Amino acid sequence: MNLKIKSNFTEELPGDSIKTNTRRQVNEACFSYVTPKKTTNPKLIHVATDFSKDLGFTNEDLKSKDFINIVTGNKVLEKTNPYAMCYGGHQFGRWAGQLGDGRAINLFDVNHNNKQWTIQLKGAGETPYSRSGDGLAVLRSSIREYLCSEAMHHLGVPTTRALSLALSGDQVMRDMLYDGNQAYEKGAIVSRVSPSFLRFGNFEIFSARGDHKNLKSLVHYTIKHHFSHLGKPSKDTYILFFDQVMQRTLDMIIHWQRVGFVHGVMNTDNMSILGLTIDYGPYGWLEGFDFGWTPNTTDAQNKRYRFANQPNIGLWNLYQLANALYPLIEDAEPLEKILENYKNGFETKSLAMMKSKLGLFEDDAKDQQFIQALEDILQLTETDMTIFFRLLSNFNKDNSIKGLEVVNDAFYKSHDVADTIAQQWGDWFDRYSFRLEKEKFSDLERKTKMDLINPKYVLRNYMAQLAIDDANNGNYDLIDALFQLLKNPYAEQPKNIKWFAKRPEWARHKVGCSMLSCSS
Ligand code: AMP
Ligand code: MG
Repeated sequence: MNLKIKSNFTEELPGDSIKTNTRRQVNEACFSYVTPKKTTNPKLIHVATDFSKDLGFTNEDLKSKDFINIVTGNKVLEKTNPYAMCYGGHQFGRWAGQLGDGRAINLFDVNHNNKQWTIQLKGAGETPYSRSGDGLAVLRSSIREYLCSEAMHHLGVPTTRALSLALSGDQVMRDMLYDGNQAYEKGAIVSRVSPSFLRFGNFEIFSARGDHKNLKSLVHYTIKHHFSHLGKPSKDTYILFFDQVMQRTLDMIIHWQRVGFVHGVMNTDNMSILGLTIDYGPYGWLEGFDFGWTPNTTDAQNKRYRFANQPNIGLWNLYQLANALYPLIEDAEPLEKILENYKNGFETKSLAMMKSKLGLFEDDAKDQQFIQALEDILQLTETDMTIFFRLLSNFNKDNSIKGLEVVNDAFYKSHDVADTIAQQWGDWFDRYSFRLEKEKFSDLERKTKMDLINPKYVLRNYMAQLAIDDANNGNYDLIDALFQLLKNPYAEQPKNIKWFAKRPEWARHKVGCSMLSCSS
């Protein structure tokens, strides 16, 4: 293995002076050194072969014993020092104190083609931050993280990546629904990859503890390594840094809204400082277009993290980050202005995104209203979001009568032509047809553009669950099939047309499909 290894984080930032792996409050440190747990019988299930090349792995590397041992924590590469990061976070609206990598262990950084990546194991054992947890992960949640992070990348959504999925060979006890029914499940480890796994919470923890010295060190480190184009650290650069985090967070959430992704647990410890989707837990994909939907049963009561609320929560989380950075800036005004810009930016970007989904690129004062009208009708009856927008590109502006026919497969219950909803659709398609007159593109050109914005294939909740059920029975074929399918989510892929379909009825109320808890 000939990797170009780096360890900037541990070399440049203060570490925990205590070396024993015991649960504790870790003060004045960004990380604690920790050794991954050895596992009984590590077995690779899948490797993101293409992506591994971006990190500098060769085909021989991937086949080697060393590779499987490294990505399951059974071998620590020479001259590397694995570590867990210290962070805090606001969980469900409240400050939760120290959290930290309770079951994530950073192995090392690799530099390849002038890009630097951190490789991290999820589920490789206890750390000082494990609190009451065991530091492990089960197969079902590992499959979900592995498949979804790569699927998101190919959809063009900023995200952390995944390199490998492996079984540990150990059994892990979980209460999947938090209802007192504990059972053993297969343990698994995902190796995931990102330029950085820093979260809002890494900054918040120092601020909450009044440790401004380390807060400053961490901000300087982050600017130097991840926002170096902003220039030398100063109060002005801190403000520019916050502005960039705001922009990236906003862009990421606009992408989520575009593809119908619901993160499920947007706590500030799950918000990446690089604006990447991170920590795939009880996330889900909209099937029926429903602003109020969340897959997370742990959040079923308040639905804080429901689809339509994600942009507001992004802003709320940025407020927490602004508060955390304030001691370094000591001037609220520029921070408030940036938060204000998030709101305006959201209006503008969200409108542009929704317009692009409809193939509208010219300006029209009534577009906002027109889109609102669409969102209202979409929620009148259960309408599959992905199928609706994908089929909409087949609409022909000279034939608005056919509108409903074009999108018919998106409805869970077909419309009677005479019913009032069908009439509302008729009116909407008339408006659409009229509005399209303003556009420069032909029907075919518009379709080509729309099909690059509205995916044909997403990781529907039941698809991941089918792969999980098979994998629990020792069959991993579907993991690979879905992995390959989701590499080209905008392509027609006629051979895979069976995945361009509404959720089957059996999946409507099935655990893992529509209901997911944080248990993982
Ligand atoms: P999550 O909801 O998965 O983002 O986790 C929130 C916090 O709990 C993070 O600090 C995790 O590291 C920690 N955590 C979650 N699951 C476990 C586990 N099984 N063992 C130890 N820590 C965990
Ligand atoms: Mg997390």
